This record gives sequence, structure tokens and C-alpha cells, in this order.
Amino acid sequence: MTAVSPAFAKLRVVATTPDLADVIRRIGAEFVDVESLAKGTEDIHAVPQRPSFIPKLNRADAVVMLGFEAEHAFLPALLDVAQNPKIMRGQPGYIDCSEDVSPLEVPTIISRAEGEQHPLGNPHYNIDPRNGKNIAKAIADKLSALDPAHAAVYEKNRHAFTQELEIKIGEWRKLAAPAKGTGAVSYHPSMAYLADFLGLKMEGTVELKAGIAPTPKHLESLVEIMKKNNVKLILREVQYSQETADWLAKETGAKVATVATMGGAFPDSGTYFGMIDHNIHSILEALK
Ligand SMILES: [Zn+2]
Repeated sequence: MTAVSPAFAKLRVVATTPDLADVIRRIGAEFVDVESLAKGTEDIHAVPQRPSFIPKLNRADAVVMLGFEAEHAFLPALLDVAQNPKIMRGQPGYIDCSEDVSPLEVPTIISRAEGEQHPLGNPHYNIDPRNGKNIAKAIADKLSALDPAHAAVYEKNRHAFTQELEIKIGEWRKLAAPAKGTGAVSYHPSMAYLADFLGLKMEGTVELKAGIAPTPKHLESLVEIMKKNNVKLILREVQYSQETADWLAKETGAKVATVATMGGAFPDSGTYFGMIDHNIHSILEALK
């Protein structure tokens, strides 16, 4: 490893998802180099432990994650292999953006039995734009602690990001007002926070539980629930089966909206704002 002078070196930051990477770029600007591990089209719970991740984590000054164990499938094992003391859990370079987020759907029994993927509650809070503020704050605070010389810049950039987000939140609320009260199902239980923001009524999931594939009996009962509760919308996260979503649509008359739980899943969703925008437009398009 080459020695670099901390006075001139940019902070090397590894984000687990492309939308977190975008927020880091907004806040860290010219003082950070950012890379993202997961691709937007992947399942955050099943990102492969690619060998190329190790050198990235070896050189990193910080790793930024969603937390609530969303990255359980790949991050803890990679951090063990990388053995970079700066980014181990509990160190200043270990940045968990969930710290100020109140989790939804916290299970009464914490368990990974049968592959349950949300042991600490629903980790897909990033797709509710209101939580963008928490993400920005966690990142700005921790970058400032790592690099106090530029703390004022990080704080200024956080403020600008949050201001822009507030304006967008108002626009999204207005735009999506017609969707309020619409009954919906999703493939994976990933939509709780966005549904709360938009006022959608989530009536079930294709999966039995997070990470647990549906049985024919479960799908039958889901169709019944959808018909009974007049569910109009099927939210298919981009990494899950189009075929199942189309079948469900055919059985129930509901419309499919393809959405994503991470940035970068679609050509227009590379940024944090783009991710939110794409999901909301996709939902409104399906309900037209
Ligand atoms: Zn999940």
C-alpha cells in the first residue's frame, strides 16, 4: 500500500448501495472518492461476496451502509476478510445510516430461522425520501468526525441537500396525492416506508416472509386478499420475477409497477432523487 499524506488525500469511502454513494458524493464533494458495492438491480440481501470488493475495503477510510442488517449477506464477512481497522464495526469509519431511523415492522422474535432477512425490522427505509435527511445527517456527521478540517463544507453540503430534498418532498406529495389510499402488494416486504409516505395500503407480499419464497397456497390466498380488498397495484421490485407479477395481475386485474429499493436500477435512477422519482412515477403510471 502506498502511503498518502492525510492532509491532501481524499477520503476513500465505500458505500454498499448506489443511492448511498450518491448522497456521499453530494456531501463529500471534492473531498471524497466514492465507490458502491451493490448494483441497483441486485437484491441487497443476496449481493455476492465478489473478490473485487476486498481491495476496495482494504483501502477505505470509511464504509457506509443502510444497516438494520440489510447487508448481512455480504458485508460482515467481507469486513472480516479485509481486516481494515478503520472500518470495523464500532470504529469511526463504520458508518451505519440507520442510527437515527425508527424501524418499521420490527419482529417480536428476532430470528434468522428459515432465511428471514429482516431480523431488526424493515431495512428498506432509504426509499422514503423523508429518511434521506437521516442518511445525509449520518454521513455528514461521520465524515466531519473523520475529516474535521472540512467539517464546515460537509455541513454546508448536507444543508443544501436537505433543503433540496424538502422541496422535492413537497412536489412528490402533491404529485402522488391521487395514489393515496390505494391498496397494494409487493413482492418482497420492502415498501413499508414508501407506502407510509405515499399513503398506500399494503395488503400483503408475494414472499411468505422476507427472503422466503411463496408456496402455491400462499399465492392463492394472496389473490383472494387482493380481490377482497380491491388491491389495484402490484409493486414488483426490479430484482424479482416479472412472470409472477404478471400472473398476479392477470388473476386480479391489478397493475404492475416496477420499482427499486436501491439507486441505479434504471437509467434515470442513478441519484438518490432519481431513485425516488422513478419509483413514484412508475406507481402513478401504473395507476393511470
Ligand atoms: Zn428486505
